[in-house]
Amino acid sequence: MLLLLGIIFIFLLFHTRNTRNTRNTRNTRNTRNTRNTRNTRNTRNTMPPQLPFGLRDGRLLRVEEVARGLSCGCVCPACREPLVAKKGARHAPHFAHHRGGSCAHALETALHLRAKEILEQARRIAVPQVCLHRQQQPLFPAQLIRFDNVRVEQHFGGIVPDLLLEAGSRRLLLEIAATHPAPEKKLKRLQQLGLPALEIDVLHIANVPSGFDSDLIHGLAHKRWLFHPKKQGVEYRLRREAAARPVRHRYFKGRHSFIVPGCPLYKRRWQSGFRKGQGYASLWQDCLYCSRCLEIIYKLETVGYRATPQEPRQVLCWGHLPLPQAPEWVSTV
Ligand code: SF4
Ligand SMILES: [Zn+2]
Repeated sequence: MLLLLGIIFIFLLFHTRNTRNTRNTRNTRNTRNTRNTRNTRNTRNTMPPQLPFGLRDGRLLRVEEVARGLSCGCVCPACREPLVAKKGARHAPHFAHHRGGSCAHALETALHLRAKEILEQARRIAVPQVCLHRQQQPLFPAQLIRFDNVRVEQHFGGIVPDLLLEAGSRRLLLEIAATHPAPEKKLKRLQQLGLPALEIDVLHIANVPSGFDSDLIHGLAHKRWLFHPKKQGVEYRLRREAAARPVRHRYFKGRHSFIVPGCPLYKRRWQSGFRKGQGYASLWQDCLYCSRCLEIIYKLETVGYRATPQEPRQVLCWGHLPLPQAPEWVSTV
């Protein structure tokens, strides 16, 4: 009997150990796999954007449209060096230079040319809605506009827009943001020219298989207005008619705060005293997030040779004005 019990005990001991070992091995494997997956994901996220188009016989082709490797017969749109079509299992299909190395303008040139090619064929583009500063209600809705002509990188009023869409005498400037957004200097010049300008972040739609064309024409998510003369016109009028409301410092029950008496939207009301029933707003809780606030004006003091904002003095607000109606919509192009 004792012998039998001893055998059972030894069997159970071995069994428990084996189970533990197996579990540990599994856990280690899982952790490793998870780590590997995470690393791969991180690598993918941090990987530089790949070249999605190659040039063959004057046409830009997607990597899915050509044969694998050097037999794709494509060259780089920027430096005209031969490309290889890479269609491995680990990375998304893309083109790479046959001789290796990096080509600074390959991606940008390819995306510009492809965008031009598509827009020239389609002769239409969806543009996003135009909203005033901090307003949810659009001044103009998103819409599809048509044009007759596309010009690529032509000098225009001291700048070189990536694309210039023309419909008769009306124009829309298009900035194709492939590697970096439009620089500040260019934006200032666009404002001086007074022409509508739209930016398209093509990098986000470049590697969507067969989605580039439709996203470029109909997508709205990656488009934003750099400048819209009608929107700026309305905002300029609001700024001229806005009221500069004084900010008052208040010390109440051991707390400092800033209030704006006479808030036209009655964000808060005095509950007692001689101002009972009158409206006011809390600067930090109401005005800072208010859709009618244009600017908070501060008292400036020179600190170490720099004019530094100190106490808030006024709020530039257009709460007393009616919501601007959209001027009659005339397509900009
Ligand atoms: S900015 Fe808004 S919250 Fe502040 S006073 Fe004007 S309307 Fe009122
Ligand atoms: Zn190149």
